[in-house]
Amino acid sequence: MNAVTLAAPEKKMARSASPLFVGNHPALDFLNSLVSQTGTYIDFLRDGGALLHWMQVSQVLPEQAMLAVASFTADERETLAQELRELREYFRHLLFKRQASVSDERQSLDARELDKLSNYLAAAPLVQQLFLTNQKAHLVTHRELNQPAAVVAEVAHLVADLLTNYPVEKVRKCENPNCSIWFNDIKRGPPRRWCTRTICGNRAKVAAHRLRQREHQ
Ligand SMILES: [Zn+2]
Repeated sequence: MNAVTLAAPEKKMARSASPLFVGNHPALDFLNSLVSQTGTYIDFLRDGGALLHWMQVSQVLPEQAMLAVASFTADERETLAQELRELREYFRHLLFKRQASVSDERQSLDARELDKLSNYLAAAPLVQQLFLTNQKAHLVTHRELNQPAAVVAEVAHLVADLLTNYPVEKVRKCENPNCSIWFNDIKRGPPRRWCTRTICGNRAKVAAHRLRQREHQ
């Protein structure tokens, strides 16, 4: 991957200053919290403050998780941001490998490569609790969000859902080689090619038009 450039000039940042939520799955919106559509990366999880803002606007995790993160100390938020950045790059590695394995057997995922994901989940196991409402019992499954590892486990759960329930051919990267965005293609008809038609789709159209013009000169 290209080096992460955070100190891009103001103008270059402007178009991607807000995160894009075009993944059609929360795990992919999480992955796309590190984004480039031009080769210059912006990391929306670059520190604890950026992470909290991203959680507020992304709604990738439920509101309780955002409130839990808001109640963490600044140091805990930094730790959490760092652990999420690590999970995010490990997840990206799994996706690239899973996709490569379709055409090249040598690239197949090894079962041991999933151990790390299992470890993230095991660090903060789910808790089951019974509640009584109007004499009706309800079983609720939740995770105590009292430490950074529990929030990481919540995100790892989303990653596990994507890997186990969504077929490899539907989860793809935008065709713009400079774009880092992944999406889950949920539309019928021809396969989705771009993260956004207005940005990467248009850019490809303009490039193809320029090439045709050059060929006719
Ligand atoms: Zn794109």
